Formats: sequence, C-alpha cells, structure tokens
Amino acid sequence: MNRRKFLTLSALSAPLLSFQRPLTGSTKPIVVSTWDSGMPVNAAAWEILSKNGTSLDAVEAGAIYIENQINCCVGLGGYPDRDGIVTLDSCIMDEKANCGAVAGLERIKHPISVARKVMENTPHVLLVGAGAQQFALENGFTLEPQQLSEDAQKAYKEWLKKSEYKPVINIENIKPVKQHGPFAPAFFDDGSPNHDTMGLLALDNLFNLSGAVTTSGMAYKIHGRVGDSPIIGAGLFVDNEVGAATSSGVGEEVIRTCGTHTVVEFMRQGYSPTAACKKAVERIVKRNPQKAKEIQVGFLALNNKGQYGAYAIQKGFVFSVKSAMENRIIPSRHLL
Ligand code: ASP
Repeated sequence: MNRRKFLTLSALSAPLLSFQRPLTGSTKPIVVSTWDSGMPVNAAAWEILSKNGTSLDAVEAGAIYIENQINCCVGLGGYPDRDGIVTLDSCIMDEKANCGAVAGLERIKHPISVARKVMENTPHVLLVGAGAQQFALENGFTLEPQQLSEDAQKAYKEWLKKSEYKPVINIENIKPVKQHGPFAPAFFDDGSPNHDTMGLLALDNLFNLSGAVTTSGMAYKIHGRVGDSPIIGAGLFVDNEVGAATSSGVGEEVIRTCGTHTVVEFMRQGYSPTAACKKAVERIVKRNPQKAKEIQVGFLALNNKGQYGAYAIQKGFVFSVKSAMENRIIPSRHLL
C-alpha cells in the first residue's frame, strides 16, 4: 500500500484513529515508527519482538527492511544531495545508552548495521564520510554502484532546472504525487524536495527500549550536510529509566533544540509521550514562530511502559504502531 493510500485510509477512519492509548498499564512488546511507511517496518521488527527477541535486534531489522526498498525515501534509493550523490545518515541506541552512528555514508546499503558495528566494535559513537565507508568495508560491507534509483534520477533532473533548496511541508498533501514506489514519494512533477526519515522505537519483553533511525537526509542538501537523524539526542534518544524518542522533519531545527533529548527529559518530568512531544515542538516554534510556519518537524515517543504519542508542527505527520493489541497508522496531533 502506498503512502497516499495510507493517508486516505487514515483520513477516512480519523474518528477511530485519532485517540491515543490510555495512560494506564503496560504494553510490551511494542514498536512504533515514523510515517505510514512504518507499517511494514514494524512488521519486520515484530517478527523479532514477538519471539522474545531484543528491542535492539528488532529496530535494526526494521531499519534494514526499509533500507532494502528500492525507490524509497531512505537508503540508497533516496534523494541525492545537490551534487547528485546519495549520502546516508543512521544511528542506533539501546537500553544501556550504548549507541553508534554514521553520517554522510556513501554506497553502503545498510547504514543501520554499520552504525550498530560502530556501537559494538569501536570506542566511538559517530563515524562520518570516507572514514565511515572505510570502516564499513573493513567490517565486511560491500560497495554498491554509485547510481541513483530511477525515480531519484528523474526527480533530480527536474530539480536541477531551478536548483532551489526548499523543503516543502508534507508535500503529498498539497500537490499531486506522481506514481512512485510503495513506500514514500520519490519525486514530484517539479522534482520538489521532500523529507522522509524512518525512525523506530521498540520496547521488548524484558522492558528494554531501543531505537534506530535511517535516512538519506534532506533532498538536495549541500554535499556534506548532516541532519538530526544520526545525532544522538537530536534524531534519537533512549533512556531506559524513562523512554525513547525519534524525529522527522527539518533536522537543523531538531539539532538546535536537542529535540529527542528534550522529549525524553519532559517525559522524565512526568509528561505523557504526547505531551512531551508537544512541549518539544513548542520549543522549536517559540524560537522562531515565523520560520516554524514554513517547516515541518514531528516527534514520536515511547515510554518504558509502552505508552506512545507524537506531535508535529504541521498537519500531516503520521506514525505506525504494532503490538499484540494493535497494528495501525495514527495521525499525529499538531500545533499550527
Ligand atoms: N530529519 C531528516 C534530516 O534533516 C529529514 C527527514 O526527516 O526527512 O535529514
């Protein structure tokens, strides 16, 4: 099912879907992920969670699943930077605050697994660019051909006509989308950049939380630009004492506010996942209300009881949830 169909379905069933889980009891295992493209990602993670697997293995499996999709929003099929090169950002974090990340990684199919190797096999947290690629090759990953997916190639060609860097808010809601792959808009008539990131959070049967993020980042960015996605505390943060959070949208705004760390700290103060995400969104908007009207940022949070929630600046952000009790897409609440 493509993203548009998901959104249509979500809209049709809005009265059913718009409530958030009651804040009582515990749900585990559970996995939540950004966007409607999170449904099959959650299914991949659930394979592991439902068999008593760890949340760490589950989030990696979910991220691998989406990185495997051709013409997808993330992974090597994603949008290139303004020089026509796809650079990948990814990170992973577990219940003990172990974490690993890669940024600006080229020609490697599974940045999430490289991030996990950084976490497990090095004393470091983040490797970038050529060094990250070298590390990947040393650890058995192979170099993929340097070529854009068919859709990304067409979009980039269109975009080059004007070469404007202008992220558009949830673009599929305001413009007709061309036929594209099953996971996310690959391109639009004018090659407009969109943004899409897969962030997922899981709680396993042992009440351990983990999170993973994988993305090709903002389309048509300056070569070398790194967004929030691989930055611990910005695109992902996990604290087993409290909960975990991830983000999607204009990464610079998330970095400026240490977005997901902020969400987790609000949960520590007693806010529900939804309320904590709202507080973090408000912080972004308060800093620059004018700019906030033109951008999108969405936060998604899961606490250590399996309660979840999301909040975005603008309408259009949705997330996917899978547990033994539910398997669905939920539209996020929004501020503006
Ligand atoms: N947050 C990502 C970035 O700034 C983009 C996205 O969420 O689509 O690179």
